[in-house]
Amino acid sequence: AHQPADKTVDSVCPYCGVGCQLTYHVKGNTILRVEGRKGPANEGRLCVKGRYGFDYVHHEQRLTQPLVRREGVTKNPVDLLDPEQVNSAFRPATWDEALALIAGRFKQIKSTHGGHALAGFGSAKCSNEEAYLFQKLVRTGFGTNNVDHCTRLCHASSVAALLEGIGSGAVSNPVMDVNQAEVIFVIGANPTVNHPVGATWIKNAVKNGAKLIVADPRRSDLARHATHFLQFKADSDVALLNALLHVIIEEKLIDREFIEQRTEGFDDLKANVSACTPEAMSSICGISPAELRAVARLYATSSASIILWGMGISQHTHGTDNARCLISLALITGQIGRPGTGLHPLRGQNNVQGASDAGLIPMMYPDYQQVCNPEAQQRFEALWNTPLSNTPGLTVVETMQAILAGTVKGMYILGENPAMSDPDLNHARKALAALDFLVVQDIFLTETASLADVVLPASAFPEKTGTFTNTDRLVQLGQQAIHPPGQARQDLWIIQSIAQGLGLDWQYNSLEEVFDEMRRAMHSIEGITWQRLQGEHALVYPCAHEGDIGQAVVFTEHFPTPNGKARLVPARYRKAAETPDSEFPFVLITGRQLEHWHTGSMTRRASVLDAIEPEPTALLHPEDLKALNIEAGNTIRLQSRRGEIQLFARADTGTPPGHVFVPFCYAEAAINKLTHAALDPDGKIPEFKYCAIAVHKK
Ligand code: SF4
Repeated sequence: AHQPADKTVDSVCPYCGVGCQLTYHVKGNTILRVEGRKGPANEGRLCVKGRYGFDYVHHEQRLTQPLVRREGVTKNPVDLLDPEQVNSAFRPATWDEALALIAGRFKQIKSTHGGHALAGFGSAKCSNEEAYLFQKLVRTGFGTNNVDHCTRLCHASSVAALLEGIGSGAVSNPVMDVNQAEVIFVIGANPTVNHPVGATWIKNAVKNGAKLIVADPRRSDLARHATHFLQFKADSDVALLNALLHVIIEEKLIDREFIEQRTEGFDDLKANVSACTPEAMSSICGISPAELRAVARLYATSSASIILWGMGISQHTHGTDNARCLISLALITGQIGRPGTGLHPLRGQNNVQGASDAGLIPMMYPDYQQVCNPEAQQRFEALWNTPLSNTPGLTVVETMQAILAGTVKGMYILGENPAMSDPDLNHARKALAALDFLVVQDIFLTETASLADVVLPASAFPEKTGTFTNTDRLVQLGQQAIHPPGQARQDLWIIQSIAQGLGLDWQYNSLEEVFDEMRRAMHSIEGITWQRLQGEHALVYPCAHEGDIGQAVVFTEHFPTPNGKARLVPARYRKAAETPDSEFPFVLITGRQLEHWHTGSMTRRASVLDAIEPEPTALLHPEDLKALNIEAGNTIRLQSRRGEIQLFARADTGTPPGHVFVPFCYAEAAINKLTHAALDPDGKIPEFKYCAIAVHKK
């Protein structure tokens, strides 16, 4: 029987971008259990993470007081500190001491080297209000646009293509629109694992008659429900998609009226794909010409086709090109701007959409206003009453390079764990350790925090109130259920205290004040008031005025581009930055697994989730295991040109022969030591989905 709770508090799941609403059942300061709540995105459903991944908040390793690195203790980027060893490198400090030290060191770096010698990484785990204040602090307090977050590692390339093509980086239709689609096209995504409740809506739609196309180098659970499953060769996305575009144009399955009235660039696109016949592309992508034709016809001729994609599309050096092709597919067939159609890049973190909207990106102010646009610069200078730099800042990987080049010397990292999530980790950790001064604000002594000079104990999701924007552009209110432990503080208070230490005259007395300022900065959410959020809990943007219910489906009449038309941008097939050879013959694909979340700092400390998946594993096809004389369960060694790790082998028929899939959540086998830091030229996203490795039996 359930232990009775003192109270229940309605909030939002802290994990994926689906944004399930939930209810915490609380006794004293302890969360007893979590139940699904009837939210627009989940209708009461929760996956295993949402339901059981909450007791990390009560974990004994929670940070409960500010920590300052002990004098003379050097930062070791090779053997990172175990959280249990915290006292060997850090000593406790008061908030006053920690904040004074931070203010002094940041000011010193700024006065000696200039504001561009400082940088900040915020987090998609932050609320919108925290993300907004964090980027404002970096731009106005540090005096630089060097501010970024994990969107750079997630959908930066999708956003680059969407902004270029249709003038908006967000989704056109909510996930729930699969219920109104005749055809659902899921590519480079594994929603059963990464957006589990969203996957249930896709499966329901298929049960109700929708046709499902799944395209992925790995066969996922969703493929069982597919009308067509295209297991294309990893890295050949553009070849596959150009073949579909070719068939649609060649067979005149295009929507000519839509193309003429609402797009530009069709002739260039047509010329670009004229040679991309299914026969020519088949040898590159591995899908038969007949199957390519069948899928192109199915997608183009349905009454409503929707495309959903994930990081299999975005995390490539040609990620922007991949997304350009998907945008072209929707535009030339007129499959956008109506219910059941459109483009939906499935967002990873629960607030990666909101953090990006709030300006946690180096080239844009809130609401995607370019920092190099003089009008936008003036607008924000007036709003924030401070001169601003018009130089786009450094992205995540560029920041690491700048540290090692000696141009970035101080950093403030809030809730992000680049010592686990960045590509080529040995290089990234070396960079973090090389900083003159690093402040990390988090709830645990993460791998990144172990390289800090000052560690600030922050609040976990259930310990604070704030808004979070899900993958559907739905702004939802998360509410505080319990108090932070010890001297851990609200993140908003910490950000404001650091800003005040830097001399900024910030006096936000409530979340509502921050949210009101965001509404003044961001047209998209003008109609969403704090009062409405408290009453309705979820409101979709764009929302123009207080009586507006918001627009779940956008681009119904025009695109938010200067002339209202979308732009078709051709893409040519090109190979990954590093391809297999005789020394490193396997392709490494990294990603997530159902039970663990990103770098594992929360879910690996959630008892149920850790009990289900306690050990790092690499997934290989049984044929490869046999050829290497490896049994499932054996310890193996994976090696690339950049590093090596050891972990357990697991047999997986869904992973194609010649490929290895590894989740990136295990610190003891940090797969990003092997990944390649090559970047997509437009989105600046690293190629997490493809590099060359060797597999050895230990
Ligand atoms: Fe949380 Fe995503 Fe699972 Fe919903 S589907 S419970 S938002 S992790």
